[in-house]
Amino acid sequence: MTSYSLGPLLHEGKAKRVFQTDQSDLVAVEFKDDATAFNALKKAQLAGKGALNCRISALLFELLERQGVPTHYLGIDGSNWMLVRPVQIVPVEVVIRNVAAGSLCKQLPIAAGAAMEPPLLDLYYKDDSLGDPFLSEARLERLGLLTPEQRQRLEELARQVNGVLRPFFASLEMELVDFKIELGFSASGELLLADEISPDTCRLWNTQVADASERILDKDRFRQDLGGVVEAYGEVCKRVQGACPEPRTYR
Ligand code: UDP
Repeated sequence: MTSYSLGPLLHEGKAKRVFQTDQSDLVAVEFKDDATAFNALKKAQLAGKGALNCRISALLFELLERQGVPTHYLGIDGSNWMLVRPVQIVPVEVVIRNVAAGSLCKQLPIAAGAAMEPPLLDLYYKDDSLGDPFLSEARLERLGLLTPEQRQRLEELARQVNGVLRPFFASLEMELVDFKIELGFSASGELLLADEISPDTCRLWNTQVADASERILDKDRFRQDLGGVVEAYGEVCKRVQGACPEPRTYR
């Protein structure tokens, strides 16, 4: 028996539902099987995806927490539910790129697969109706979303996440090509890593495989109609859980 009960739906996103609970310092997140791409122009139901993303995210949040990254994560409950601290999400998507892929190669003359050294950090304004536009430093300042110190902290946390996850995935024979994170302010004003970290939000290449399509273990399999999406997420989960303790259950 868990020591909370679900309250009203607070927010429904493309891949998750967020519920209030009877505790003011606790929010419940349900990971859905819905898959979307290209700003929800492409949609599908992928049975098992929600549970895999919930588990992978839990394992990675706990790994990051052990390495000193503050997160919203508290524990899991069953296969699709994660309990988290409530945060005020900063409407900025932080992307770190270790290897050029995706929108970067569509927007700039940078060859797919080129190493980004040091890793590139890109910020986007989180608004689907605007298509998540790229944020320059001046645009971010104009929006007044973050103080310079908060922006510095946000970037520091994103680089710290990369500093933990990139070698971790490398040790599991996966290349962390790029990823997107979201952060939020806790009730006490602390900036916490939030949302999820999963093959929906990361590009991961299987370094055991040379073929450029076959090696893809992330949402690009769905975006590019490569098939085997849930199988690829399952492979990521298998490797990650082989290197991590069982995620804690929230009680
Ligand atoms: N990403 C994400 N949500 C978004 C946009 C991007 O999780 O709304 C992730 C994406 O899966 C990839 C990284 O952020 O791992 C960089 O994405 P990119 O800017 O290349 O955009 P995309 O190619 O996904 O359009």
